[in-house]
Amino acid sequence: MTLDLSKYAAEKGIKYFMISYTDLFGGQRAKLVPAAAIADMQKDGAGFAGFATWLDLTPAHPDLFAVPDPDSVIQLPWKKDVAWVAADCVMDGKPVEQAPRVVLKRLIAEAAEQGLRVKTGVEPEFFLISADGSKISDELDTADKPCYDQQALMRRYDVIAEICDSMLELGWKPYQNDHEDANGQFEMNWEYDDALITADKHSFFKYMVKSIAEKHGLKATFMPKPFKGLTGNGCHAHISVWDMAGKTNAFADKNMPFGLSAQGKTFLGGIMKHASALAAVTNPTVNSYKRINAPRTISGATWAPNTVTWTGNNRTHMVRVPGPGRFELRLPDGAVNPYLLQAIIIAAGLSGIRSQADPGPHYDIDMYREGHMVTDAPKLPLNLLDALREYEKDTELQAALGTEFSAAYLKLKTGEWNTFCSHFTDWERSTTLDI
Ligand code: ADP
Ligand code: MG
Ligand code: MG
Ligand code: MG
Ligand code: MG
Repeated sequence: MTLDLSKYAAEKGIKYFMISYTDLFGGQRAKLVPAAAIADMQKDGAGFAGFATWLDLTPAHPDLFAVPDPDSVIQLPWKKDVAWVAADCVMDGKPVEQAPRVVLKRLIAEAAEQGLRVKTGVEPEFFLISADGSKISDELDTADKPCYDQQALMRRYDVIAEICDSMLELGWKPYQNDHEDANGQFEMNWEYDDALITADKHSFFKYMVKSIAEKHGLKATFMPKPFKGLTGNGCHAHISVWDMAGKTNAFADKNMPFGLSAQGKTFLGGIMKHASALAAVTNPTVNSYKRINAPRTISGATWAPNTVTWTGNNRTHMVRVPGPGRFELRLPDGAVNPYLLQAIIIAAGLSGIRSQADPGPHYDIDMYREGHMVTDAPKLPLNLLDALREYEKDTELQAALGTEFSAAYLKLKTGEWNTFCSHFTDWERSTTLDI
């Protein structure tokens, strides 16, 4: 039964709803709607000028309506008067095919047609920095190997605990929080769920972390590589595929190497086959390529991949199989669009199942030290343009994500690359002035 948002407001004491959708660049766009107006908005959606956000539309297009999905509604734990609700974009009565949440829902439906239910967990790392964004907020957080630093973690207890308390209250089943591998960097983990639920939670998590950090006079950033020489913000995804009842893990087979079933291997085969093109979505910014392919960080390792390889429980590869019945994709970074992340994993995985793709050999080596020994695996794209070109070449993946979406994404991201290229840098001045 569909939840009536108007009744929900009355029961919970909600005064305003944020009707929120995510554009192609991962920006969250919202209208703040008083509870008295939510009944009509639940039916018709909130109106937006789509061109004013990162979607491939013109100023002449008709209204874009963001129709709230009541299943996603969340009362803000830190501001109980307000509820956030994820919305699907509709124009002229039809779903907007390029809109990320629409793309994901279509792929989930395609998986369901094959009796498959994809469940995922994400690990969105972030930094807590000064309110003006210029430096790490904790001046004492300077260790060369700051991962799991107890003292530095507890100096940020007030922020981390408020976020974790919120997740507990929301029933997300958070289970651990830590200081990560870079100074100022943290990670918080909650339990995996169906891909759409994880995508909505991932979106909300980013909003929540930024909001609670601001409340404490700080800024949170998910930027892939905010500081030179320090480990960047990854957003690893853990993936398993189940039967529609969610009872049997189709990826688990204890008689197979690493406990990964034959079907799981072909899904992984799809990820490996499409990896270079995948990067255009999982690593969507100019800055993303300063995290992957990066030189060793001060801590000793980047923890990010540079080559399309997979292995067992070893964190130096693009894909790790940490235990039976699931694998971890370590490629995505903090800039990834939560909906497109899930969508592209399902698209590549289903394509792998369709073509019975073989993930190739597993290299059980330390890729950071011995990576040069692997000569038959592609290197990941070196920059955003490389990745976009790989995506442009991968017509199968483009079709799987939808031709309308793919054209829109390529157009807007190529535009972003061109904007970057027209930007004059200090580096080119200092290296070219005396030529
Ligand atoms: P690590 O840092 O070792 O990669 P984390 O504990 O930080 O692992 O994150 C693991 C993520 O994987 C969590 O979101 C967890 O819920 C999720 N996860 C665990 N088991 C599965 C599974 N079978 N399918 C999908 N996700 C899973
Ligand atoms: Mg106006
Ligand atoms: Mg983790
Ligand atoms: Mg981590
Ligand atoms: Mg991980």
